[in-house]
Amino acid sequence: MFKPLLSLTGGLIATAAISIAQAKPLAQEDLSVAEVLRDRALASSNAYSIVESLTVEVGPRRAGTEGDERAVAWAQEKMKSLGFDRVYTEQIEVPRWTRGHAHAQVISPYPQPLVVSSLGYSVATPEGGLTAEIVEFPDVESLLEASPKQVKGKIAFINKRMAKARTGEGYGPAVQGRSKGMRAAAEKGAAALLLRSVGTDSDRFAHTGMMSIDNIENPVPALALSAPDANLLEAMLSRGKPVEVKLDIDNQRHSDGPSFNVIGEITGRETPEEVMIIGAHLDSWDEGTGALDDGAGVAIVMETARLIAELPVRPRRTLRVVLFGAEEIGLVGAKQYLDAHRHELDNIIAISESDFGAGKIWRFDTRLPENKFDIADQMMQLLAPLGIERGNNQSYGGPDSSVFVAEGVPAFGLYQDGTDYFDYHHTPNDTLDKVKPENLRQNVAAWVVMSFLATEMEGNFGRVPVKAEK
Ligand SMILES: [Zn+2]
Repeated sequence: MFKPLLSLTGGLIATAAISIAQAKPLAQEDLSVAEVLRDRALASSNAYSIVESLTVEVGPRRAGTEGDERAVAWAQEKMKSLGFDRVYTEQIEVPRWTRGHAHAQVISPYPQPLVVSSLGYSVATPEGGLTAEIVEFPDVESLLEASPKQVKGKIAFINKRMAKARTGEGYGPAVQGRSKGMRAAAEKGAAALLLRSVGTDSDRFAHTGMMSIDNIENPVPALALSAPDANLLEAMLSRGKPVEVKLDIDNQRHSDGPSFNVIGEITGRETPEEVMIIGAHLDSWDEGTGALDDGAGVAIVMETARLIAELPVRPRRTLRVVLFGAEEIGLVGAKQYLDAHRHELDNIIAISESDFGAGKIWRFDTRLPENKFDIADQMMQLLAPLGIERGNNQSYGGPDSSVFVAEGVPAFGLYQDGTDYFDYHHTPNDTLDKVKPENLRQNVAAWVVMSFLATEMEGNFGRVPVKAEK
């Protein structure tokens, strides 16, 4: 029997008597510490307190807004109070935009209001609004193929439904309409874009989100329509009469301004320059309080670091928590972070990010060189009892992490159950009541196992060969 080699009440981790040759890369005593950390996570409600604090004391925090500023201050205070060794910010530049009102109503043949939300950075309608006939497309591809004559002067309506799945795999195909739809509509001379919300609910909430806005000569107003309102419009159109809709939107674009990545570290005791990055994004959309996206992720990685900071000694290398700014509007913080840290890329031993809500983790994906798979197998010994199965080696580590993975940085992906995630994603309904404390505990338990072992283990993961994309 192997006795745990640390005193969790204060003593140092004993390092004597560990000359036993290790057949496996992770030392047994490190696995023992990870197991203790895992069980402490399962008994703690701290992560829930953190997301509660963020949603109550800050709330909506879209990049470049006053809420974003308060979130940056909140994150620094919180990290200091949780015992991080070093807390600092790095400035980024973000495009800024003000959301005004967005009204839509059917004028004929069956006048009634519609529930809509401006897509991110949508332009306004002319003063007094605009009225035009609807032309429907099943997806953005068919809008792209349409002749300008079909679309000119009309409101293009993309009516694509998103499939619900635990993996969230319906999102990729559905989100194309949001990212490319406005550009396609504008280039064909449409008056505006109406998009069936990219979501899986049947609530009367529209799902906002970012779209491609750069280098479009004459951008047009772009709105998401709640799913029930998209159904309504579809039913009206099926009656064969022209359907006219009036849109009245008041948004404003401003010059770029500052935001920040907020960083907190637990400094490594032996090779502090080597870092394991665990991330989440601090910004949110502006209509909900960003509890799921990504308050939960912020809480999970902060609490993971706090548990590791509570150990009697620091881990071998540095655990760096990066709360990325401006993820929602195009991974802005992650891209600028990468540019600023290129010189130390080789010191980032691995990266992972929590940004898929607050569901239970059910799968452990990796992106490791093949000769390092046994490390993941050893981690699995401690993850399996949490109900987690081994997944694939194609992890991107999360949206912000993908920027680093593209440079060959190894990654871990603790995949959450996303069945309900797109019911609330980017809506006013993304609020704290959707976060279940017991699920957060399970998340932190898994994160602390992975994060501790990666920061404490001897040796590193090397680099993952980057394949040419597409
Ligand atoms: Zn997110």
